[in-house]
Amino acid sequence: MSRQRQYENLAAGRQGRLWQADRGLAELPPNPFACECGSPGCACTWPGTPDEYDVRRGEGWLTTHPAC
Ligand SMILES: [Zn+2]
Repeated sequence: MSRQRQYENLAAGRQGRLWQADRGLAELPPNPFACECGSPGCACTWPGTPDEYDVRRGEGWLTTHPAC
């Protein structure tokens, strides 16, 4: 479950970067990345840019708890 969410988040990040390059934007608006806690019912999101997500990913699964 966590892996699937991470896969989707990576795809979303890649898509954001493509969109950014296409538009020639200096900065991307925050994207709602899915919480990677692995709970089937969790629908929490974490707003951040692809770069910010990469930093968070370096620290382990992205989770938004207990903020949400
Ligand atoms: Zn969660």
